[in-house]
Amino acid sequence: MSDLEDIIAELKRCHSILISVHISPDGDALGSQLALMFALKKLNKTVTVHNLDPVPEIYRFLPFAETIKTGRPVTGRYDAYVVLDSDPPRTGLFDDAYPADTLINLDHHVTNRSAWRHTWLDTAATATGEMVYKLIQRLGVPIDRDIALCLYTAIFTDTGSFRYSNTTPESMRISATLLEAGADPWIVTENVYESFAFRRLKLLGSVLSGIERSKDGKIAWVVVTNELYDQTGTKAEDTDNFVNFVRSIKGVEAAVLFRQTGPAQYKVSLRSKGRVDLSELARLFGGGGHKNAAGCVVNGVIEEVKMRVISELENIISTQLGYGNDTIHGRRP
Ligand code: AMP
Ligand code: MN
Ligand code: MN
Repeated sequence: MSDLEDIIAELKRCHSILISVHISPDGDALGSQLALMFALKKLNKTVTVHNLDPVPEIYRFLPFAETIKTGRPVTGRYDAYVVLDSDPPRTGLFDDAYPADTLINLDHHVTNRSAWRHTWLDTAATATGEMVYKLIQRLGVPIDRDIALCLYTAIFTDTGSFRYSNTTPESMRISATLLEAGADPWIVTENVYESFAFRRLKLLGSVLSGIERSKDGKIAWVVVTNELYDQTGTKAEDTDNFVNFVRSIKGVEAAVLFRQTGPAQYKVSLRSKGRVDLSELARLFGGGGHKNAAGCVVNGVIEEVKMRVISELENIISTQLGYGNDTIHGRRP
């Protein structure tokens, strides 16, 4: 049986189903989660949606986002536990006590270890939302307006508004079908990219004014400290996409955002322009992700964390692109 067939059989067999996504949930995670919830409810399943972290303000427009439970512990017992858009440990919900026999994992991250009983990993998928679209179709559930809006949000956000190289003809075809089914693209754009709190722009200003780069200009980075959050009245979700400004500099191959998560702990967001593969570096630090977008958490004071990450980045850039060589993969940079 293929992974997808296996998961379809399992979902059909189960009655009560829990769906969870990764910590700091994004548009792909939440859109996929709610869309699958709608579809399974149409099949008369009892569905509970539960994540560790609350839904960020910019995603609260998603239908029934307010029904997503948060925090720990997860109560109740379920016939199936579905984890979307990440490896199950990244839900932060189960410690090591995974309901292994009944775990269903759908993901598109190359760093997913596929270690779960029912895993469907499609690293070629643009977004988990694209996989959920296929799953819903195979379950025979019609795509209604709510499902369409959620899946469109998933694909739209994970492709950086159809700008990143993971954008495929297929993801555009699926998105066209979602628009036909009633998804309103402006509702998504306005909520996700045109509704920022004033405080978020103040934070962006402070963060960008501290931007630094390596001597050769190939790596640039910014730091968000707890002090800056306090000064501007902001929180972690207000830094979403900041790292893209850092990557946008000409000549930068890899951009980094160091975001403080504890007295001596930083969440590291890594982005490349496509010539450098960052997934291995993230894995080296216990994280994961994709080639062009990856992340990890590093313990230490900021100077130490910066030094460790930047020097590893210098290593991988020199290995992957070659130092003192102005020809990158046969192309002039
Ligand atoms: P972020 O920088 O948090 O936006 O993450 C970039 C990409 O890397 C996303 O696809 C994340 O799902 C993935 N990612 C970030 N942090 C981790 C982590 N600690 N473990 C695995 N994947 C991660
Ligand atoms: Mn995600
Ligand atoms: Mn995703």
